[in-house]
Amino acid sequence: MNHIKNIVCLLGAFVLLNGCHTGSRHEHQADKWKQFHQELLTIDTHTDTPLRLIRSGANLSLRDDPRKGGGKIDFPRMREGGLDGVFFAVYVGQGPRDEEGNEHARQEAMEIFDSIHAVIQRYPDIIQPALAADDLEKINKDGRLAIFIGMENGYPVGNDISLVQQFYNLGARYITLCHSSNNDICDSSTDRGGPEYRGLSEFGKQIVKEMNRLGMIIDVSHISDKAFYDVLDLTAVPVIASHSGSRSICDHPRNLDDDMLAALAKNGGVIQVCLVPEYVKEMEPYPERDSAKQAVVRKHGNYYELADEAREAFLRDWFAVDSIYPPHLPTVSDFVDHIDHIVQIAGIDHVGIGSDFDGGGGLADCFDVSEMGNITYELLNRGYSDEDIQKIWSGNFLRVFREVEKGRGKE
Ligand SMILES: [Zn+2]
Repeated sequence: MNHIKNIVCLLGAFVLLNGCHTGSRHEHQADKWKQFHQELLTIDTHTDTPLRLIRSGANLSLRDDPRKGGGKIDFPRMREGGLDGVFFAVYVGQGPRDEEGNEHARQEAMEIFDSIHAVIQRYPDIIQPALAADDLEKINKDGRLAIFIGMENGYPVGNDISLVQQFYNLGARYITLCHSSNNDICDSSTDRGGPEYRGLSEFGKQIVKEMNRLGMIIDVSHISDKAFYDVLDLTAVPVIASHSGSRSICDHPRNLDDDMLAALAKNGGVIQVCLVPEYVKEMEPYPERDSAKQAVVRKHGNYYELADEAREAFLRDWFAVDSIYPPHLPTVSDFVDHIDHIVQIAGIDHVGIGSDFDGGGGLADCFDVSEMGNITYELLNRGYSDEDIQKIWSGNFLRVFREVEKGRGKE
């Protein structure tokens, strides 16, 4: 396993060195950029880390190794990567949309809320629950990490609008209206069956109004283009895309095209660029690696359905594939191409960062949260000012959050 790690480290160093030749005002100041990064107030608006709490009972107070099947976020590595706050997603995959399915989804959501609350209670000296935009700075000044909650997929709301308030009361501050399939609220950008409502459903329109009333952020990541425009027509306050990219840079329906970026800027909202390889850059096909990985799954079965010993065997084979066919991942430079383009189309006030770590996010040189400083390094190299970088790392998102809070209680 050390051998594999060395190859991966060498690859990472190669990419980093090659991505950093453009010259920077911080260049000859040794590690000064690292100090600058640590001093920034930073937030990541989308991670699926709670899946690891539920499925593998992860201990977030201990440093894990993502190259050996571990998670991409824990508290020691958040500190190392200079990340002050994070949104943990209550993610429930789309299932049947009937009474039984809805009830099951609601219960699953409740279990995830419980697991997040349990972690927050277990480590009060390291993390604190965050419920308002101002909490990020307050908690950070106190030397702790801020844990926010967002809900990915409105499916657990089922067709009962009162649940929106219930989830808000449990700490959720945004809802991503749908996931990879259509639900009762709206069409998804990736449903194989195509659109069902041509945008928001009638129920979805009520949900938008209810979220405005509660002061809950509407997240338009994953929803169809038409649903996106329906939301913008209806909402009284700015919205976010918690983890998406630019379609001009990487042509994927999950990303926003230039017209959508311009409309988002007009709405006052923000797009938080994600680190999911498929949405960052289309890579050359790698069939040898794909079939070797598929063979591991065929041999062992679904990882999450295996017993502990079987999981170990699965991981041994899974990571053995990496030593033969190391993954080809996009780089931080590819990622910052999205930021550059969004700044051109929407302006510097409408872009941020939402990694999707533990939900598929990870780049060659920003593979886990400990490497988030490499984004700041690249932004400095491209000539972004300190003030602009602060906007990207939290300023823009917090502005939207505050506007949503201000709109609370208004019809
Ligand atoms: Zn997602």
